[in-house]
Amino acid sequence: MNDDTTPKTKSPLAGLNLNFLAPAEGSQTASMAPVAATTAGGAVSARVVIVGSGPAGLTAAIYAARANLEPIVIGGVVGGGQLMITSEVENYPGFPEGIQGPELMGLFRKQAERFGARIVDADVDRVNLGGRPFRLWAAGIEYRAEAVIVATGAEAIWLGLESETRLRGRGVSACATCDGFFFRDKTIAVVGGGDSALEEALFLTRFASKVHLIHRRDAFRGSKIMQARAASHPKVELHLNRTVEEILGGEHVEAIRLGKTNEPGEETLPLDGVFVAIGHRPNVAVFRDWLETDERGYLRIDGATTASNIDGVFVSGDVDDHRYRQAVTAAGEGCRAAIDAERWLEAQEAYEAPRAAAGAATAH
Ligand code: NAP
Repeated sequence: MNDDTTPKTKSPLAGLNLNFLAPAEGSQTASMAPVAATTAGGAVSARVVIVGSGPAGLTAAIYAARANLEPIVIGGVVGGGQLMITSEVENYPGFPEGIQGPELMGLFRKQAERFGARIVDADVDRVNLGGRPFRLWAAGIEYRAEAVIVATGAEAIWLGLESETRLRGRGVSACATCDGFFFRDKTIAVVGGGDSALEEALFLTRFASKVHLIHRRDAFRGSKIMQARAASHPKVELHLNRTVEEILGGEHVEAIRLGKTNEPGEETLPLDGVFVAIGHRPNVAVFRDWLETDERGYLRIDGATTASNIDGVFVSGDVDDHRYRQAVTAAGEGCRAAIDAERWLEAQEAYEAPRAAAGAATAH
């Protein structure tokens, strides 16, 4: 599990064969090579720097590049966002046969690079948004930007079991909307006691023949109405005071081993899938001192636009959206952020150019 108070240095995807880190075919930029330094002192300047390379960040990059803003994307050591740990994606429009998550993100990246976006596979470990140009540091290089788009996403919180990591994408998921469809007429478990777990359990009854809802305490945290719905649903069986000790299976999930919170003993439930719904954590660590967050810790945006509390800094995707959390909604918000940044830069230039000209006339 990642701790968002420390920079990510180790890939949770380590050991998986992913193509994302390789530059897209035909790309002009080697992804680890710093782009050309353009300011004194070795800092790299860009009109727009985008932080994050999930659907929001790369869609923002496509739009910003096509607007001739020559964006730099600081995409993270582990680029691509949540879809990199998703197998089949069947709800992204345009792919009627479905597509693998990492392959979809490879296409996003290729499209962004085709229009000139420069992508750096490094983590931003420090920022200074106290004035323009904004300053960001990643892998020892300073980047300066007239506008910044933050698209760092959110991560599902996992139980932290070795078996959970090993079987992720093989029956273990953290997204019922994405993966529920694959469990038609199957038996599954949902782990958690908040609204997400209750909602996912009820949603999954559309597909599954049986849903075991497993919670570590004797009382749910979620809303009373959702609790009542789950408790009365004929397909849902509640398991309170139960902790997940291990998810069993070789190639695919086959069973779950539960411990009992208040008494000795264990039990094993045979099943085909496990949905972990114990919350999400937005990736806000480096921005926390600068950008406003809401009561849940997500970045706050204006709403009508993607503007943050700092003029010239825009936010998109799951780092501000805890409601929808879909690739397509993140991509849509990335598009909005790029358009907002473009219009904001235009407005700045319209304001600053006459002032500069007036300043030059006065000097003569
Ligand atoms: P949450 O409210 O923080 O609930 C997380 C649940 O997971 C808690 O029941 C917690 O147990 C359990 N949990 C945490 N760590 C665990 C671990 N290591 N092992 C086992 N269980 C663990 O998170 P959420 O359900 O994602 O909801 C987040 C927010 O979004 C909430 O404010 C919620 O109301 C809102 N939300 C609303 C809706 C809706 O209105 N339709 C839908 C989804 C979410 P404990 O209870 O013992 O702490």
